[in-house]
Amino acid sequence: MPFVRLVDLSKSYGRGHLAVDKVNLEIRDGEFLVLVGPSGCGKSTVLRMVAGLEEVSSGEVRIGDRVVNEVPPRERDVAMVFQNYALYPHMSVFDNMAFGLRRRKVAEPDVKLKVAETAEVLGLTGYLQRRPRELSGGERQRVALGRAMVRKPQVFLFDEPLSNLDAKLRVQMRAEIKRLHQRVGATMIYVTHDQVEAMTLGDRIAVMKKGVLQQCADPLTLYSRPANAFVAGFIGSPPINFFDAKVSADGASLESGGVRLPLDPARRGRLSAGQGVRCGIRPEDLHLDGREGGAITVSAEVIEPHGNETVVHWRSALGDVVSRVPGQSAPRVGDSAELRFELGRLHVFDPASERSLDVAEPAAV
Ligand code: ADP
Repeated sequence: MPFVRLVDLSKSYGRGHLAVDKVNLEIRDGEFLVLVGPSGCGKSTVLRMVAGLEEVSSGEVRIGDRVVNEVPPRERDVAMVFQNYALYPHMSVFDNMAFGLRRRKVAEPDVKLKVAETAEVLGLTGYLQRRPRELSGGERQRVALGRAMVRKPQVFLFDEPLSNLDAKLRVQMRAEIKRLHQRVGATMIYVTHDQVEAMTLGDRIAVMKKGVLQQCADPLTLYSRPANAFVAGFIGSPPINFFDAKVSADGASLESGGVRLPLDPARRGRLSAGQGVRCGIRPEDLHLDGREGGAITVSAEVIEPHGNETVVHWRSALGDVVSRVPGQSAPRVGDSAELRFELGRLHVFDPASERSLDVAEPAAV
């Protein structure tokens, strides 16, 4: 059963511009859903409409079995964790965590119990008497989470909660939030612009662009079967390589920049001779092991060692392409090679609509 449901949800800030454009999304009970997209795509606005911090222009927000469009934030049983977690600096960790409960007139023994329980879960038991300035960034973040958790809300809303932390702490907190979700099993909606965060945290990920939901799927589906070129390009690092091509007259291969790539048999009947297509191939689907199955001649331009692997930027007849090679077998700048395409993994898009020509129902969200 969906627990949070967005029905044709739209938001206009005036001037006729839609910040959120008819978003339809169902978030299941206990699900961790990530809303991701570039800055300005409307993801915070969606979250703020769920929280009740932003008025809905049209459409519905449903939580449980009621439409909450007109329900004030306090009565929605949601808790929001922001990027600026703004703890009260003059209060102890305990008082910060107790604040919301006391404001709701929860009896003091209950407050103590709930704060103690939550502090235990978050590993904050030894910190309850400290002030926020006596904590590290990660510990403060945990207090902010704790403040939301003590109320045991039915829905947690996170708005880029990790973006103020340094890279190492971000990875640590990511795991902590995931662990937290596994433990408390609450419904969580998490907004981020960071696709790695989205992929690692979400049960499902909803990708937005310019106010419009592009695709919502589990991480591996999103990665391997993107509904359009935008999703394909947004998810994945280093990003997918794109190039334009044309289906050959016999319909058996793709031609681009004088290069001929055999078409995967599964795809042959689905494309017509002479059709223009936009192709995408991920860096790990290009291999330095021989010619068979379609290969292009490339020369290495930029080498980026990562230790476990090396990312190589190649110059080719298709333009610049990026591939990953094992750390120990990296080429040197200027080296030539044959780069083999794993043809079954080639993505093909319509150049005008950018929709995938691989996915049977590309619009499925
Ligand atoms: P994101 O969270 O994806 O970065 P937002 O939801 O914050 O994007 O914003 C979506 C769009 O709405 C942007 O174009 C932004 O400029 C606009 N916007 C956001 N808040 C307001 C506001 N209070 N008044 C006018 N425009 C706004």
